[in-house]
Amino acid sequence: MDARYNPNEIEAKWQAVWAEQNADRTPDLADRSPEHKKFYALSMFPYPSGNLHMGHVRNYTITDAIARVRRMQGYQVLHPMGWDAFGLPAENAAIDRGVHPADWTERNIAQMKQQLARLGLSYDWEREVATCRPDYYRWTQWIFLQFFAAGLAYQKEATVNWDPIDQTVLANEQVDSEGKSWRSGALVEKRLLRQWFFKITDYAEQLLADLDKLTGWPDRVKTMQANWIGKSTGALLDFPIVGNATLADTKITVFTTRPDTVYGVTYLVLAPEHPLVAQVTTADRRSAVEAFVQEISAQSEIDRTAEDKPKRGIPTGGTALNPFTGEEIPIWIADYVLYEYGTGAVMGVPTHDQRDFQFAKGNGLPLKVVIVPEAGAPADAADLTAAYTETGVLVNSGQFDGIASTEAKAKITEFAEAQGWGQARVQYRLRDWLISRQRYWGAPIPIVHCPNCGAVPVPDDQLPVELPKNIEFSGRGPSPLAKLDEWVNVPCPTCGTPAKRETDTMDTFIDSSWYFLRYPDARNEAAAFDPAKTNAWAPIDQYVGGIEHAILHLLYSRFFTKVLRDRGLLNFDEPFSRLLTQGMVQAMAYKNPTTGKYIAPADVDFSDPSQPKDPATGDLLVSVYEKMSKSKYNGVDPEGVLAKYGADTSRMFVLFKAPPEKDLEWDDADVEGQFRFLNRVWRLVSTYLEAQAGKAIAPDPKAEKDLRRAIHIAIKEVSDDLADDYQLNTAISELMKLSNALNDYANKTSPIFAEGIETLIVLLAPFAPHITEELWQILGRSGSVHHAVWPTLDESALVADEVTIVIQIKGKTRGTIQAPASIDKATLEKLALESEVAQKYIADQTVQKIIVVPGKLVNFVV
Ligand SMILES: [Zn+2]
Repeated sequence: MDARYNPNEIEAKWQAVWAEQNADRTPDLADRSPEHKKFYALSMFPYPSGNLHMGHVRNYTITDAIARVRRMQGYQVLHPMGWDAFGLPAENAAIDRGVHPADWTERNIAQMKQQLARLGLSYDWEREVATCRPDYYRWTQWIFLQFFAAGLAYQKEATVNWDPIDQTVLANEQVDSEGKSWRSGALVEKRLLRQWFFKITDYAEQLLADLDKLTGWPDRVKTMQANWIGKSTGALLDFPIVGNATLADTKITVFTTRPDTVYGVTYLVLAPEHPLVAQVTTADRRSAVEAFVQEISAQSEIDRTAEDKPKRGIPTGGTALNPFTGEEIPIWIADYVLYEYGTGAVMGVPTHDQRDFQFAKGNGLPLKVVIVPEAGAPADAADLTAAYTETGVLVNSGQFDGIASTEAKAKITEFAEAQGWGQARVQYRLRDWLISRQRYWGAPIPIVHCPNCGAVPVPDDQLPVELPKNIEFSGRGPSPLAKLDEWVNVPCPTCGTPAKRETDTMDTFIDSSWYFLRYPDARNEAAAFDPAKTNAWAPIDQYVGGIEHAILHLLYSRFFTKVLRDRGLLNFDEPFSRLLTQGMVQAMAYKNPTTGKYIAPADVDFSDPSQPKDPATGDLLVSVYEKMSKSKYNGVDPEGVLAKYGADTSRMFVLFKAPPEKDLEWDDADVEGQFRFLNRVWRLVSTYLEAQAGKAIAPDPKAEKDLRRAIHIAIKEVSDDLADDYQLNTAISELMKLSNALNDYANKTSPIFAEGIETLIVLLAPFAPHITEELWQILGRSGSVHHAVWPTLDESALVADEVTIVIQIKGKTRGTIQAPASIDKATLEKLALESEVAQKYIADQTVQKIIVVPGKLVNFVV
């Protein structure tokens, strides 16, 4: 064997062998008995940008290590990879550089596939999917039609970003932070267009309730999803408009989670976009109201609702009646009320809602206390310095006085229902999902619009509706598909009348909402998947991806799973049993605090290493760990690291440096450290082989037993670390300990030493697949180390002959002694008392009491 570890040579050799053997092919699994051990390991598939970055390396290495461990533990493993390949960058490349999106995308896929191969990832490439290929998007279209058939796909008007110079619709990503077009620089306008939606709101309650089933998900992600769905329980209450002859029977309906405070309502607020605004506004207020509405329409939702921003509003001059009190109250409009949420109107209760309190104080609106902390407490609004938002007892609330506010919610709602003024209501923040995109590079929506039949589905046997190839990308005018008359004009599939194809394509989040269902049956040409195969493999046992997908991708995938289950295609409720959100990969970035500019590390003036300076200005730079990015010049290119150290070291570094869910700080010294560790493993084997060639040394039974114990501690600890929570970093620490124990062990001819070497290689194999495969062959073992059986723990080997006992005097630790593990209490007390350390500290004092914790400590009270 070579004395030197040469990673690049070894890795190239094994990667070629594995590819040739198709070593990571998935076993067939068409059904699943309860005792069947299957494991579906999945990384979130990438957008094929053309360049692998360190975030990818980390994500895929984590999943690969898990998949490899499970294979060795006897599971049948599915570990596929694919490409989330539709989307805007390809279309922008077409506009900028004249390259067709399909060619650009396929070229990037080929490039990234090569980079992935260099990492030694155990993918079954026979199951590769690319969402932009017709053999995949045919089924995306078929699934759209499943939603359409279920009444879950519908059209309505919604706003788009309109570029008035290029006369085209822009994606949100094409509008800069100042609201200008990326291409023309024009100020972007809002326009209404008829667009397609998925009715995800029908599943809001299930999506919320089933979060409880996701015991293998981080709590943080579940909380984010719950907040996004945003369930609130309350009531709809009606306030009749008064003093306006044309609105005699018109009511303003508000949603409130606090019906118990309705006697404290002193005003109503409408969203500036509310259709009643123009009608309730009185003549003397009209010009002021119109100016305010105009001003607010230019602001974003985020600006309007920011917590720290003062709320702005003005009166309309209109009046409504609080039906509970019979009082007339003014109608205002304000920026913080959004038309898209709830009913677009809210009731103002300044005494019991902090936002209302500030708004009322700022605008001189009256305050009326209706809840006090306890019965008999004073209810003077003039004393309040903030809203009272706790529970309490009702006052100034007519027939409800004296009732606890918690009970009053239901009682007042029931009363309103009986009077015909309102009703109980559960409301969600979640909106229906706008899936239309006025772009080319997406799956065409398979609908034909017929003047007689309306929206007609393209029949299944005419799918896919393929993207036409001969197309012009200018970035101007209607979407590329809408410009292609010969593609747009088709006869109606139902009645044959001349009709037009839908020219919108689907949001790319649709492509990624079902790809994991395709992998178990990726080459199926007759169906999206065979339910028997997908039900056998899914749900995914371990899903790994970035926290940036915590809401939309995961929520949409859960929604798709539930809809397809209700269509009879799936037999499970949730797609991902366990979720791991890996942390970011960060590296040191250097920023000039005066100019705000980042300086590339190569340019930084390090003449005083403790005080990096800007070479241009001489300013001291701030150095901080930040997510790797081009704009901060702190990206580390995986190709460079792979070329220098090889894949195994790169893998070991990203797995060892931080727990998988935590951020990882790039450090060249630690990469070097992992390279040295693999070199030590290499030398251990070479030392072992040299010793084998020499004369056997007689075994030392005690030392052999200690080494065997170290081996089985490693088996136990590594197996535990890889059980469910995947503490990959501590697993590698255990392997380092074992390697040290083997290194320190003198008798390299011992059979126990041989067992140790073999165990180390097998346990290391999921992390560093190439070097371990090479060493396995060098040791003359047959087959692949990746098919080796995961070592079994021998519990008896963990039992120590001797234990270390802590000696304490009056509870203070003074030293330790060695004692036989099987020692009885009386003998231990005697041994401890006679020990040098006890004698020294007790001296001539009298021992009053001896406390023994068996196997751990002896404490002398003197
Ligand atoms: Zn028709």
